Amino acid sequence: MSQHFRADIHCHTFCSDGSESPEQVLNLAVERGLKGLSITDHDSADAYDVVFPIAKKLGLRMITGVEFSTMHRGESIHILGYGYDRHNDDFEAFCERHHRRRKERNQRFIEKLREQGVMIEEDELLQTPKELLPRGRQTTGRPHIAQAMMKHGFVSSVDRAFKEFIGEGRPLFVPGAAFSVEETIDVIHRAGGYAVIAHPHFIKRKSILNDLFAMPFDGLEAYYAKLPKQQEGPWARKAEELGWFYTGGSDFHGTVKPHIQLGASWTNEETFSLLEKRHKENNGDG
Ligand code: AMP
Ligand code: FE
Ligand code: FE
Ligand code: ZN
Repeated sequence: MSQHFRADIHCHTFCSDGSESPEQVLNLAVERGLKGLSITDHDSADAYDVVFPIAKKLGLRMITGVEFSTMHRGESIHILGYGYDRHNDDFEAFCERHHRRRKERNQRFIEKLREQGVMIEEDELLQTPKELLPRGRQTTGRPHIAQAMMKHGFVSSVDRAFKEFIGEGRPLFVPGAAFSVEETIDVIHRAGGYAVIAHPHFIKRKSILNDLFAMPFDGLEAYYAKLPKQQEGPWARKAEELGWFYTGGSDFHGTVKPHIQLGASWTNEETFSLLEKRHKENNGDG
């Protein structure tokens, strides 16, 4: 196996809260010397409508991916899905439900901001012209709310918007409807994919982690962004102890999180090939 193989399997495009188009992310992956890639937009597989012909042309190995938002006992948990059948009906219906959930939640954010004198219209949340988006829609959420707040001069930066107003526990935070971890794992599995706990080091309550470790996940994201090396080892060992695989990815968002480079963390060839096998069984060549 090649020592030089690196696959970044956690990144975002403008189909959710990244700044770059799917094509730009693929080109960047090649520039960075990556051999494999998975795009994991929040609650969306829309990027997969366009990426496979581009990946083929670039010689990049590409597998389906997604990052779903869930809640467990009041804590926000992100779940990555890989290799699923992107045309699976249950999977598509689940993404639609997330889309509606976010529409309602955004409306609540807009109302709360109006009470503060910040007059944001729903249309302003869209950060990318509709005609550039594969399905004419974007997974919009707090990063888009934060950018609108900035545009209206209410905050000086996206970071300040989160820290002072819309971060969890802050005065303008809206939780929105919650999807369970169990249902999310089930949807990914029914679409033939693998379910992976994203950035487990963000989960501060040990009891929550123990709940998750008892659930039918397939893997754990052990390498993340620029996590210091000494923090990665224990997660990889935990995955092995559970009989799960472990992955790595940058969580690249483009200019939305400028400190994170595509390829900052990666997955090795053995694990990527396992996921790619599933991807091919479910999707053929794309
Ligand atoms: P939501 O899914 O709408 O609750 O928004 C959560 C998203 O906000 C996460 O996926 C992050 O990408 C983004 N986010 C969280 N904190 C920050 C921050 N301080 N600055 C920019 N983006 C953030
Ligand atoms: Fe994000
Ligand atoms: Fe996440
Ligand atoms: Zn992410």
